[in-house]
Amino acid sequence: MTRVRTRYAPSPTGHLHIGGARTALFSYLLARKHGGDFIVRIEDTDTERNIPGADEKQMAMLKWLGIHWDESVDIGGPYGPYRCMERLDIYNRYVDKLLAEGKAYLSYSTPEEREREREEQIARGEKPKYSGWDRDLTPEQRAKFEAEGRVPSVRFRVPEGKTIVIEDAIRGTVKFESDEIGDFVIRRPDGRPTYNFAVVVDDALMKITHVLRGEEHLSNTPKQILIYEALGFEIPTFGHIPLILNSEGKKMSKRDETIIQFIDQYREQGYLPEAIVNFIALLGWSPEGEEEIFSMSELIDRFSLERVSKAPAIFDTGKLKWMNGQYIKKAPLERIVSLALPHLRKAGRIEENLSPERMEWVTRLVALYQEQLEYAAQIVELTELFFRSDVRYEEEAKAVLSEEHVPMVLSAVAEKWAGMTSFAPDDIKDMFKQVQKETGYKGKQLFMPVRAAATGVVHGPDLRETLSLLGRDTVLRRIRSCVDNIGDFRGK
Ligand code: GLU
Repeated sequence: MTRVRTRYAPSPTGHLHIGGARTALFSYLLARKHGGDFIVRIEDTDTERNIPGADEKQMAMLKWLGIHWDESVDIGGPYGPYRCMERLDIYNRYVDKLLAEGKAYLSYSTPEEREREREEQIARGEKPKYSGWDRDLTPEQRAKFEAEGRVPSVRFRVPEGKTIVIEDAIRGTVKFESDEIGDFVIRRPDGRPTYNFAVVVDDALMKITHVLRGEEHLSNTPKQILIYEALGFEIPTFGHIPLILNSEGKKMSKRDETIIQFIDQYREQGYLPEAIVNFIALLGWSPEGEEEIFSMSELIDRFSLERVSKAPAIFDTGKLKWMNGQYIKKAPLERIVSLALPHLRKAGRIEENLSPERMEWVTRLVALYQEQLEYAAQIVELTELFFRSDVRYEEEAKAVLSEEHVPMVLSAVAEKWAGMTSFAPDDIKDMFKQVQKETGYKGKQLFMPVRAAATGVVHGPDLRETLSLLGRDTVLRRIRSCVDNIGDFRGK
């Protein structure tokens, strides 16, 4: 059997997008599943749109996600170079071949001529396409254009009356008519190949067996198949992955602000790469069964193109957060702490250099919220009550604090608290026991007022640990202040 070889071919025009990451992931999974190779090729022929360094950044993000390549610009490989702009002589060889065989021609039309032709076609009610008027110029006509200073592009001579059939591994059979396709440029006047040409030469020479990419490329595929045929290359298996829609069912545009779309942004927010990979894998692909949490190796095991859907995938941010939360819960605490620290620092909550005691405190604080955390940046908002000097009492807390027995319970707690010297959760437990004995209040009637007074809210993580982390002075001040101002909560 032929060795499976897949590739991801980003253009270095921006950050790694969710859609691109998904194409890379599916290609990677397919290659790994079959013990094949995964290649990253940089398609940088659209030079006006290239952003310096974008390729390295995208590749760093792929690595972060755990998507590793076997051949690329950084490590080389037997079919390099892997950067298109370094392959110009290779493309030229194939352009020359097509020219020599009459399958392509030098085209001298100017943008103005093409625009005029387009307008005329539209005026006649026709679908605009390049007419190919300069397909068969005489040497004299060519010389005349050259003398005028026109620099030709090379156009592919699209065969007439041909049905192009794509057996797409995801979409099934898709047909296109060659008569709908005008002769298209394969080499620009400045010598750069167009995408549709370079991609064929590259995929063929790099022995790519499966071309997976976004559905938006489906309409390019018939042109590419024509080039494969013209050059006598073997046609790979194509798989066009469905679009990603936002929660409103609209095609996700790169400007859509309701969704974070770039992988680096997720990393900055403190998402875990395993969770992103898991989530992205399920954008258009689904395994058998109900299970949803998969490691990379499980994905490799289960992935198949048959189970990639034709229907668009919906990007559900809530589900991504949930999934990330699942991974955070299971991750070692130190890992979550190291993700949380930069966010706490940036928010000015903690110092740049932490003493061992302070580090221990922060670690306990993060541990307290590990269950609840959906992504690391959330730690700032979740732990706000530990860093404010005043407390904001939510309505439910006010209701609790307005109950009759509250001043008595809080006063007893304050008195005991003031006499304590150690504030470990166990010491706090003992204190509660004593207060219970003295006042006769226990359970909710005892804990709720204390939680409400010390934190301003009625729900939260473990109370003893919370109080322990708030520390002696803060708890005492907050409880006393509630006792002193109890009227505020009773609406008096
Ligand atoms: N450079 C193209 C893109 O970024 C790749 C398309 C393909 O995979 O053929 O969309």
